[in-house]
Amino acid sequence: MSKNFDVVVIGGGPGGYIAAIRAAQLGFNVACVDEWKNDKGGPAPGGTCTNVGCIPSKALLQSSEHYEHLNHHFADHGITADNVKIDVAKMVARKNTVVKQNNDGILYLFKKNKVTFFHGRGSFVAAKDGGYELKAGDEVVFAKQVVLATGSNARQLPGAEFDEELILSNDGALRIGATPKKLGVIGSGVIGLEMGSVWRRLGAEVTILEAMPAFLAAADEAVAKEAAKVFKKQGLDIQLGVKISKVTKAKDSVTVAYTDAKGAEQSLTVEKLIVSIGRVANTIGLGAETIGLKLDERGAIVVDAECKTNLPGVWAVGDVVRGPMLAHKAEEEGVAVAERIAGQHGHVDFDIIPWVIYTSPEIAWVGKTEQALKAEGRAYRSGQFPFLANGRARALGDTTGFVKMLADAKTDEILGVHIIGPYASELIAECVMAMAFKASSEDIARICHAHPSLSESTKEAALAVDKRTLNF
Ligand code: FAD
Repeated sequence: MSKNFDVVVIGGGPGGYIAAIRAAQLGFNVACVDEWKNDKGGPAPGGTCTNVGCIPSKALLQSSEHYEHLNHHFADHGITADNVKIDVAKMVARKNTVVKQNNDGILYLFKKNKVTFFHGRGSFVAAKDGGYELKAGDEVVFAKQVVLATGSNARQLPGAEFDEELILSNDGALRIGATPKKLGVIGSGVIGLEMGSVWRRLGAEVTILEAMPAFLAAADEAVAKEAAKVFKKQGLDIQLGVKISKVTKAKDSVTVAYTDAKGAEQSLTVEKLIVSIGRVANTIGLGAETIGLKLDERGAIVVDAECKTNLPGVWAVGDVVRGPMLAHKAEEEGVAVAERIAGQHGHVDFDIIPWVIYTSPEIAWVGKTEQALKAEGRAYRSGQFPFLANGRARALGDTTGFVKMLADAKTDEILGVHIIGPYASELIAECVMAMAFKASSEDIARICHAHPSLSESTKEAALAVDKRTLNF
């Protein structure tokens, strides 16, 4: 006899586990199926984000940043140390501990919220009795409603398949056991920049090859320009407009043959090559074809604005559907779907999803870029404030970058905020909230911000929109 559930969620990443918890909070009998295995073969819920994405990358970024500060920045504070060493194995072991704490935390949350967890693959068996029969690991279960949150996998570069030894996806990039002398990265997106930064800080000579002619095309041009300048100064060699012709593996190295932006033939030999050229929606083994689940030409599950698929009672959220591949977007969709199943009005505002790149300096933005506003022909005013003029940033010893605010020329409603600088990932939250409440730049300018704090730069950028900065 199959076990009956109101809701079965397939995939235990940020989209899936959050959907399961919210559905359980709303009174449903819920199960979540996730197949990720830890090194011992046990369950490791949390998906890409927890196991080989957001969390482990931030753990390594933090460790490598401490090392860089000790080597290069602490002397300004009067702190010096001889013989500073990095134990990469220990750094990676710490990262693994952080990941495990998050895996265990999710298992605890499932218990707390009475979500039944199945470790193994979830797949469709058949539509039955107005619901679905599913495989959940070794068991067969029945679900009235199904939420698909099966995430994404790293895109392969044809002719340079991942072996996770020499040619690495994000998975292998987070397991490198010793600092390579030379590291190559194909793709200058968020993952390429973050991973490149980790190993550059630890002493690797890092070359990033990017096919696009523009750097960080999704970011505001002023931010992208500043970032390119700072990363170059840090020693990241970022080459734009390249065309990869061949990737050849030797015993301990990889050689990338490519044409540079000027059309000259080039060759780069590195100890490790990270390929971070985007991610592909994952529906492997789900039985999409068995049940007639509609996928688009890229393999993503087709959903409407409410995350409904073409099948009644089947929803899909996160990386496996359209939209930005971000953990917080997946989570918001998960919550919204659970609430819609309960007959409530779940809501995700795609216009104010924040973007963050956890390099140093951090980069964060929300809303429209200046180039997008220009292209739309929208009248706007812009205000910018440099961290150089912020007392807290000076005390921190980290004055790179600025806050830039864009507001409607007539109504003054904030249309976008772009930050490059210390703790941009935290500063952006105020701006997202302001935009959610349709705040004007004048609203931010009139709100008392603590002194000395980095957030005063946001207030000053708002004042700059009206050309009345006080500290610059
Ligand atoms: P996933 O997290 O991919 O989870 C899907 C889960 O479903 C997996 O556990 C998988 O094993 C399981 N699964 C798949 N098919 C089945 C099946 N048939 N049966 C059972 N289980 C199945 N985003 C951010 O917002 N901030 C960041 O800082 C950030 N950093 C990142 C760094 C890296 C290196 C990478 C690779 C990604 C990063 N991301 C970041 C993106 C983020 O990880 C994803 O957007 C997020 O994990 C998507 O969540 P999801 O729930 O849709 O899918």
